[in-house]
Amino acid sequence: MRHLLPLLLGWFMVSPLVVRAQAPDVKAIKAGKLFDSERGVLLTKQTILVSGNTITAVGSEVQIPRGATLIDLSEYTVLPGLIESHSHLLMEHPGTEDNTLTVTKAVALEGDVLRALRGVPRAKSYLEEGYTTVRDVGNAGQFADVALKRAIDEGSVVGPRLYVSGPGLAAEGGQVPGLAPGQTHFIAGEYRIIRGVEDARLAVREHVYHGADLIKIYSNSSPNKTYLSVEEMKAIVEEAHLHQLKVTAHATTDLAIRRAVRAGVDGIEHGYVVADSTLQLMRERKVVLVPTDMDFLLAKKQVDKLKMNLSREQIRDLAKPYHERLLRARRANTTIAAGSDMYMDLGLSRGQAAKRVLFAYAEAGLPLNEILQAATWNGAQLLGEPRLGRLQAGAWADLIAVKGNPLEDLSALEKVVLVLKNGQLVLSTRQP
Ligand SMILES: [Zn+2]
Repeated sequence: MRHLLPLLLGWFMVSPLVVRAQAPDVKAIKAGKLFDSERGVLLTKQTILVSGNTITAVGSEVQIPRGATLIDLSEYTVLPGLIESHSHLLMEHPGTEDNTLTVTKAVALEGDVLRALRGVPRAKSYLEEGYTTVRDVGNAGQFADVALKRAIDEGSVVGPRLYVSGPGLAAEGGQVPGLAPGQTHFIAGEYRIIRGVEDARLAVREHVYHGADLIKIYSNSSPNKTYLSVEEMKAIVEEAHLHQLKVTAHATTDLAIRRAVRAGVDGIEHGYVVADSTLQLMRERKVVLVPTDMDFLLAKKQVDKLKMNLSREQIRDLAKPYHERLLRARRANTTIAAGSDMYMDLGLSRGQAAKRVLFAYAEAGLPLNEILQAATWNGAQLLGEPRLGRLQAGAWADLIAVKGNPLEDLSALEKVVLVLKNGQLVLSTRQP
């Protein structure tokens, strides 16, 4: 067959229809306060110029060009669009059953198409809460996350920028314990089971082919007892880095974290139990930690849902080990990116529930400016995308405005009045 496409493209390139492209629209945004995510400080009386989907200038002396659309946010605090570093948009757990039942139902009864469709309002709820970027790390069937991402990118549905992993690469059994012998084939609908070093390389190539943006592995497959071998993880990292894809590891124990870090991963998810020496190793190797912690409000909702008889004090005590390891990670100068791991129905929108992770960090005692950095600058570092998570010339025009000062009171983040994604206004509820 002759290929007409190059000829047609050649015609379009010289066609006056295409050459007469519209000049990009220019917006001038006046920010009362502006969060400098690189330094973790608030600046005052800043103007941001946006041309098309890109920030072209930021400062106090910026000249506003003639014809620019003025957006006056002088009564508000302007921040880079928030980044969620650990979501599961295509999964919903009722909170009252075990994981095996949820995963089996998702694979066998719900199916990938319905899962992707149900992910649409969850993705939108993130945007409404000021999250312009979401890193979705598995439990999305067979690349249904890639389908949702493409639908958002082409404008068929509304949502944040998605960075998706496709099915997580795991050792035998994935995270699905307890299936009867002969029925374990369900697991392959949700996880890519790795059987040796060559298979590990093949799995990464499959993910590259199907459009994954990053590779998620399970160093340990908790609640299952299996581990990937260090050799398998090394092969995954080597193959993924060849394709400029980052690798992040679910790792809940110190042993699982150390093995993954030794294999060369870029990120550690959860890291619930971790030694100081391992945190030190992570810092040396520039491995980012995503502490998926729950705040008191969500923990209380979950306890109530499960009809557990726990006092407020007992609920607080449950969080103490996570608080303590978060502060040790900070002391070790390990980079922390904010990720919620929220997939439970607790009566809030997914975006609202996900944001509670920032309050969990505050309850642990992390300074508020560092929490905001974890949800902006550090999230961008984890993704390896310097055009995200900052309000600087050259960055993508993803920004939000909130009422109040989140460096004094984090609950200001709950009052999002404006969201700009890729230079486009997607939400505005400002008072005139
Ligand atoms: Zn997760």
